[in-house]
Amino acid sequence: MRTSQFPLHTLKESPADAEVVSHRYMLRAGLIRRLAAGIYTWLPLGLRVLRKVEQIVREEMDRIGGLEVLMPAVQPAELWQESGRWEQYGPELLRVRDRHQRDFCFGPTHEEVITDLVRREISSYRQLPLLYYQIQTKFRDEIRPRFGVMRAREFLMKDAYSFHLDQASLEETYARMHEAYSAVFRRCGLEFRAVRADSGAIGGAVSHEFMVLADSGEDAIAFSDESDYAANVELAEALPPEGARPAPAQAMERVATPGAHTIEAVSTFLGVEPARCLKTLLVAGAEGGLVALVVRGDHELNAVKAAKLPEVASPLRFATAEEIAAAVGCGPGSLGPVGLQMPVIVDHAAAHVADFVCGANEEGFHLRGVNWGRDLPEPRTADIRNVVEGDPSPDGRGRLRIRRGIEVGHIFQLGDKYSAAMGATVLDEAGRSVVLTMGCYGIGVSRVVAAAIEQNHDEHGIVWPEPIAPFRVAIAPIQYHRSAAVREAADALYARLCAAGVEVLLDDRDVRPGVMFADLDLIGIPHRVVVGERGLGRGVVEYKRRGEAEAEALPPQALLERLG
Ligand code: ATP
Ligand code: MG
Ligand code: MG
Ligand code: MG
Repeated sequence: MRTSQFPLHTLKESPADAEVVSHRYMLRAGLIRRLAAGIYTWLPLGLRVLRKVEQIVREEMDRIGGLEVLMPAVQPAELWQESGRWEQYGPELLRVRDRHQRDFCFGPTHEEVITDLVRREISSYRQLPLLYYQIQTKFRDEIRPRFGVMRAREFLMKDAYSFHLDQASLEETYARMHEAYSAVFRRCGLEFRAVRADSGAIGGAVSHEFMVLADSGEDAIAFSDESDYAANVELAEALPPEGARPAPAQAMERVATPGAHTIEAVSTFLGVEPARCLKTLLVAGAEGGLVALVVRGDHELNAVKAAKLPEVASPLRFATAEEIAAAVGCGPGSLGPVGLQMPVIVDHAAAHVADFVCGANEEGFHLRGVNWGRDLPEPRTADIRNVVEGDPSPDGRGRLRIRRGIEVGHIFQLGDKYSAAMGATVLDEAGRSVVLTMGCYGIGVSRVVAAAIEQNHDEHGIVWPEPIAPFRVAIAPIQYHRSAAVREAADALYARLCAAGVEVLLDDRDVRPGVMFADLDLIGIPHRVVVGERGLGRGVVEYKRRGEAEAEALPPQALLERLG
């Protein structure tokens, strides 16, 4: 491609509302444009990246015997009523009514649709196991869409569903899927961990999340580098094998410092409902299971200050949100679990922070975060467990590290939740009717693009992992429109690379070299070749790998051998 036919849409300035680096660079590099909250157009450059990720996912699904299908985005309400989720799913489900007053939803996921298909099409155990997948647009009416395509409302997901006669067969496919997911994220050039996870609203018992490690991640995960142990922090305490897990009483001792309170106690003393008022962010601190409590507005802060809660051990001490953020090592907008030294109350209106201890109840450390406050990560309900950095790993090998992660994939052993509710059965060998056992498996294809940028960038822009880069090589000719020698050499190089099957972008704009280099750095093409008269005089072009400081002078032939 030439930029004359493939215009770049780069921006100099960072859009004001883009909080994380991937969002900023995706807008500035001209990969995406916002249409409405959480709804984006993919421009040609961005779409090339999205398609690469998609293709890697498709290849790995095909490799383990997945059968690609394409299901509708719009789904009839009846199916969701059958599964019970029409009521359960809540406001994230975008519901629409057609001209005949029939209810539909825009699919946030496809368990119902695939189960309906399978109950109609599959009747014998001989047709099992089966693995269907699709790469398709989902809609979730996220309460707070943000970070660009990372938490969008409309996004691209690969979702897969497997059907089995029994649990043993499900476990086999699940293990293969686990491998395939690892292969996908490895091939995308990402640093990730597979962690045990809560299966949430989708249901089922065993589930793993695939987390890309990044400070901007909305989840916290605990893992050991010396073993396979890795879990979502919410569950790190709950899931270890029996025996390896501290008894609740021991766990209590560890963080039940004077002044530990249940969220119920705190809300009672403030005299407001937990869900409404406290805007509670309870996060496991890196040092000792400490938590943060967020209050909003003077009214609530004054309630805290005025309160004579007998168990509060230390007097309230105030600090600004900036001070806390500096101590924590993050932006004030993203105060989070990692590294908090002290439990804090953050008052957003006044930007005040006060010490406060909150955390334990009789059952251990089972607290619910109800609201994250105005500019903190989005509201989520999560069990916060008592796991801290440096704890021994539950399997006894190594110590736990706690890091933030971006959930890019999630696999579930569903069991018969949907097949039982919707009557999806087959006949077994003995002619008996058996309810199918199911698994489901998702990858946030569009989120992977953002996660890749979170992990691979510098101050100049994106540094794409080669397998998902929009182009592999950029040719930057100096004075293309004025120097016949440069034009000839650049065109020849372009033609030969194209002939060798290399994806090349030739920048034939009539712009200053500085502008060209800045744009090419921003869009992050892995290999850059500068063709200029001076180099050509010596029989060389200048080659530089994105992300490296030094350029190398190479004869065009050597360059072709290296990149071709
Ligand atoms: P999250 O915890 O981030 O809300 P989820 O657990 O609700 O995600 P799943 O139902 O497990 O999501 O969906 C499978 C995958 O789809 C997720 O692992 C994630 O990569 C992707 N995904 C989910 N919600 C979004 C979103 N709003 N924007 C982009 N990708 C998403
Ligand atoms: Mg979600
Ligand atoms: Mg999740
Ligand atoms: Mg999930």
